[in-house]
Amino acid sequence: MITKVYDDIYKIDVSLPDNPLKSLNVYVIKGDKKSLVLDTGFNQKECETALFDGLGDLNIDMSNVELFITHLHSDHSGMAHLFQELGAKIYSGEVDGKLINHMASEEHWDRFEGEIKMFDLEKDKVTISEHPGFKYRLTKPVDFTFINEGKAIQIGKYFFEVIDLPGHTPGQVGLYERNHKLFFGGDHVLDRITPNIAYWGGDENILATYLNSLGKVYSLDIDYLFPAHRNIIRDHTRRINELILHHRERLGEILKILKDGESTVRDVASKMEWRIRAKDWDDFPLAQKWFASSEAMSHLEHLYHSGLIQKNLVHGKLYFKLK
Ligand SMILES: [Zn+2]
Repeated sequence: MITKVYDDIYKIDVSLPDNPLKSLNVYVIKGDKKSLVLDTGFNQKECETALFDGLGDLNIDMSNVELFITHLHSDHSGMAHLFQELGAKIYSGEVDGKLINHMASEEHWDRFEGEIKMFDLEKDKVTISEHPGFKYRLTKPVDFTFINEGKAIQIGKYFFEVIDLPGHTPGQVGLYERNHKLFFGGDHVLDRITPNIAYWGGDENILATYLNSLGKVYSLDIDYLFPAHRNIIRDHTRRINELILHHRERLGEILKILKDGESTVRDVASKMEWRIRAKDWDDFPLAQKWFASSEAMSHLEHLYHSGLIQKNLVHGKLYFKLK
């Protein structure tokens, strides 16, 4: 389905088969000479058909198209190679662009073996092959034009400033059009669903990074916030306040769970409340066990960095307890 969402700006719904995210909003900005496409969909036949049929229906001149990738997730970057084959310029932030090309290799995914153990997920028989980010990723590197805050892209009458939005991924970027008060934020702020804040390895407090990036967007003057999934947002400060509250509640929930005693990441994730159609932890699809554990971990790290809990690594497995 194609919807005109603003003057010269269109949204193509690219459905994501068998994925709880349902579909990706691909925005297309039509200029007089060139057009800009934001994100692609998974590297999957159904997505390819939906995207390129949509671009055809919009009469986009594919020899004058540019692609902007908001972040590394495969539902956003999976088909970048098809734009490379067209000779298109492909923009991304430097951090995520480098990671996307690294993700194309098999060795990138080796670190997850250690993470499965660290999170105590071995007993769930979680494997990387079940991960949609692995299955439908870009499998060959592309030549990105790195673009970060301080740079801009002009398309027709629109002047888009790049805004760094680290948090949902280490290097997500968005586009802000100050004159028309338009904001394209990838998965930074979503309506109805909360963007997944995952653990990225190392010691970084990624949840704090995310909350900081929320604060940055809060203060922008925005009339239309165009997210990559679900509804267009007209009242971004309301939604950002809800997201901040959600993460505060999550932190409180985890502190309560840790009152039961020392826990692994899996112990915590399996006791948290999740909005998912599964009756209990055993009933969770494997990929969802992974996402839930990674989300629990980013919150545990935040509590650890705040000095509220302790962590111990014993034979490759992490244990958390209250101080
Ligand atoms: Zn994402």
